[in-house]
Amino acid sequence: MYFTGLQIKKRPGRIIVAAPHDGDDADGLSDGNSGLIAARLAERLGASLVLARNLRRLVDVNKDPENVADPRLAAWCRRYQERIFRPLPLLVLEIHGHVSGHFDLEISTGYRGIDAAYRERLELYRRDLRQAIDHFWLPCGPLGEIKKPTLGVFPLDADVKLKATRTYTFQLLRALRLLGYPCYGLHVEIHRYLRLPPPGGPDLHAALVEILAAGIKRFLPGR
Ligand SMILES: [Zn+2]
Repeated sequence: MYFTGLQIKKRPGRIIVAAPHDGDDADGLSDGNSGLIAARLAERLGASLVLARNLRRLVDVNKDPENVADPRLAAWCRRYQERIFRPLPLLVLEIHGHVSGHFDLEISTGYRGIDAAYRERLELYRRDLRQAIDHFWLPCGPLGEIKKPTLGVFPLDADVKLKATRTYTFQLLRALRLLGYPCYGLHVEIHRYLRLPPPGGPDLHAALVEILAAGIKRFLPGR
C-alpha cells in the first residue's frame, strides 16, 4: 500500500522544492520519480520540500481548490498550497514529469511578461544549465550512452510546450509579484527517460539534481 498524502521537510530559508504529481507512472496521471528527484534537489539546495505522494490519481493538488467539487479533495489542494506559500517563498521549484514536451527538460517561469532584469537572470540561468548538461554529457563520460537532454526555458524559448501558464501555483506566484513581493517560480518538466532510467545504469538522478541546482545562485543574486 502506497503512502498517500503530503510529505513535508522544513529547512531554513525561503526556497521550496515541490512535487505535486509524484506517484506511479503506470496510472497515466502521475509523474513517476518526480518526488525522488525533488527530495534530492531540496537536500542539495538546503531547501524545504513539499511532496504530494500518490495524490494525483485522486486530485490535482495544483488546481484552484474553489474549482474542486469534493471538499475532501479541495482540502488537499489547499494544504499543498498553504505549505508552499506560508511563509512567503522567494523561489518555488516545482518538479514534474512529461512524455510529450518539445524539449527533454522544459523549464518555465509560468508567464510570458517578464521584465528586462528577470530576462537577464533567466538567460544566465539557462547558460549555466546548458554548461552543466555539457559537463555531464562529455563524450566518453559515464552518461555518454544515454541521450543528451535538450533544454528549453520559457519565455526565452517559445517552443517550450509545457508553459504552466494556467497552473494555479504559478498564477499565485504571478499575483504576488504583481503585488510587489519578489518571489519567483520555476516549473520543471523532466522527460520520462530521464526520470525512469533502466536499473543498474549510472545515477542519472544525481546528474539531474546537479544540473537543476547549477544556476540557482545566479538566479537568486545576493542570497
Ligand atoms: Zn506534473
